[in-house]
Amino acid sequence: MEKLGTAAVFKGPNEKFDIRKYPVGKPEPGNVLLKLEYSGICGTDIHICKGNLPMPPKELIIGHEFTGKVESIGGSVAKDALGNPIRTGDTAIACVAIPCEKCFCCGHGEMSSCMNFGVTYLKDPEEKPHFHGGFGEYLFSPARNIVRIPDGVTAKSAAAFPCGGPTVIRACTYAGGLESGELVVVQGTGALGIFAVALAVSHGCKVVAIGSSSNPERSRIVEKLGAEMVLDYRKVPREERLKKIQQLAGKLGRGNGADVVIETSGSPEAFPEGLDLVRTRGRYIVPGQYSSSDGVKINPELITFKAIRITGSGQYCMDDIGTYLEFLKSNPRIAETFSECITHEYKIQDADLAIADVAAGKAIKAVFK
Ligand SMILES: [Zn+2]
Ligand SMILES: [Zn+2]
Repeated sequence: MEKLGTAAVFKGPNEKFDIRKYPVGKPEPGNVLLKLEYSGICGTDIHICKGNLPMPPKELIIGHEFTGKVESIGGSVAKDALGNPIRTGDTAIACVAIPCEKCFCCGHGEMSSCMNFGVTYLKDPEEKPHFHGGFGEYLFSPARNIVRIPDGVTAKSAAAFPCGGPTVIRACTYAGGLESGELVVVQGTGALGIFAVALAVSHGCKVVAIGSSSNPERSRIVEKLGAEMVLDYRKVPREERLKKIQQLAGKLGRGNGADVVIETSGSPEAFPEGLDLVRTRGRYIVPGQYSSSDGVKINPELITFKAIRITGSGQYCMDDIGTYLEFLKSNPRIAETFSECITHEYKIQDADLAIADVAAGKAIKAVFK
């Protein structure tokens, strides 16, 4: 009998997902078939479901944080994106982005900022092999879009931040990296923020996180990861936050503010505050502003007078996923805490409930399982 799998088909903003069963075939040469272990629901998916991120007007299987077990390999492919050998039974992270390899950035080794990114899931789910995107029990992916999870790293820990982690890693790489002893302020305690705190602490930085008490679990997690101070933006007003951070900078001998501020909240209002918090010649790293806004008022003279270096970045490439997995391998205690961040698990057929819960901020990290 033909094997069937379930997929949640996105039909358009604010519409219910259509739950369908499709036959599970064999991968074409150069592709692999992955069976669902965890498939994360990202803030980007919420933007898509609400219509804040325009998508082509057709049925799609969205979802870009798929972690699965290699069930079969098409043709003679035996290597992942980074040249690691792959065998059936291995677990891997699949990335949906395809850099064009032709634009200026790709040509200059900056594939993470490709100007013409393609996406593997932009295909009709009715078209074979059907499972093109992350919200399904299976995924057919080009082998060059997967990275094998190294031995010693659990699929669960890897599935916590397979998109937020590489995004933050790329942004910090563009900004020249983090250095031991630096004072780092992380704005936001979502997926990117939690990962940014872990990354900065592991580099020997002193970390202050600015979050909200709407989900106290998030504050507990960033404290557990080693944040020195967690400021609740609803309880501690902006002026006071600035004072506390400047006092800490003074105590640590870092001058008039944080060496590095990382904006992960996605709230446009966070940006003017970031300019206040960063010290003279400090770095302001901005990977979090992921949907269009009406703009905010800033004081551009701060950029001039404080000679602030601002670095944006919103994407990542396969190398960044490799760095993310290496980070988990060398930091097993952090990896364990990341597993704890997966607080909500759903079946594919409960996609509507999953999206509603994530939109309501109920989970630290929610996944299909
Ligand atoms: Zn994502
Ligand atoms: Zn390109």
